[in-house]
Amino acid sequence: MQFPFADFSELKEKKILIVGVGGLGAVSAEILTRCGVGRIVIMDYDTLEEGNLNRLIYNTSQVGKKKVDALEVHLKKANPDVRVVGHPFDITDGKGYDLFVEEVGKSDVVLGCVDTFHVRLFMNSQCVKAGKPLIDGGASTDGVNGSVHVVIPGKTPCFRCNRPALGETAREEAQKPERAREATGVCHFTSLPTTMGIVSSLQCQETLKLLLSFGHIASYLMYHGLEGVLERYDWERDPDCPVCGDIVHEK
Ligand SMILES: [Zn+2]
Repeated sequence: MQFPFADFSELKEKKILIVGVGGLGAVSAEILTRCGVGRIVIMDYDTLEEGNLNRLIYNTSQVGKKKVDALEVHLKKANPDVRVVGHPFDITDGKGYDLFVEEVGKSDVVLGCVDTFHVRLFMNSQCVKAGKPLIDGGASTDGVNGSVHVVIPGKTPCFRCNRPALGETAREEAQKPERAREATGVCHFTSLPTTMGIVSSLQCQETLKLLLSFGHIASYLMYHGLEGVLERYDWERDPDCPVCGDIVHEK
């Protein structure tokens, strides 16, 4: 592949972990698979429901299957040279937790594509602890806005840094039941495939910049869909951050 800013062939030596393979994660996995990343691990305990089909990648014949199993088949067809590994587990508990910690350790970058706040906080603290970059993507509950947060431990603000409003309530927030989900695992909130495609593409763009060392990584990008505006924020790390505050700053 001819690309003037980096050598894409280096991607075959790279390993990526993607947590959550719904609207964001499935698209990110497809993009990075087609780019030729060497090993892609996907983790998600959800089963595919009809209500998920307004997103991209999945199809009607896969309803009832584990998302990671359906996606693994799809990705292997898209690029058989990529090693795809699927783990159908909850990363915050039991076997899934052990596997998550192990896979974070092996990965060059972790992509957060989850829809719950407490899992984001959990992933943030685990990635900071392991010194692994986390690229978190999210879409707003109204479906038209999104954001991408690039956490490079010791270098860019972590997910907890610029949320002073969380303050003392962070722990309570993290323990709240998952309000955005029904018992079936299908999200209540609107999910526009367009917004999902934009946010996951931005996540992948920052991932490629990080893995191949080109361009200027945006530590925080916010997409405003109604206005058609993409904003970049370059915040400073919080020296008192409870998660990353004690890591020596690297330039
Ligand atoms: Zn922090």
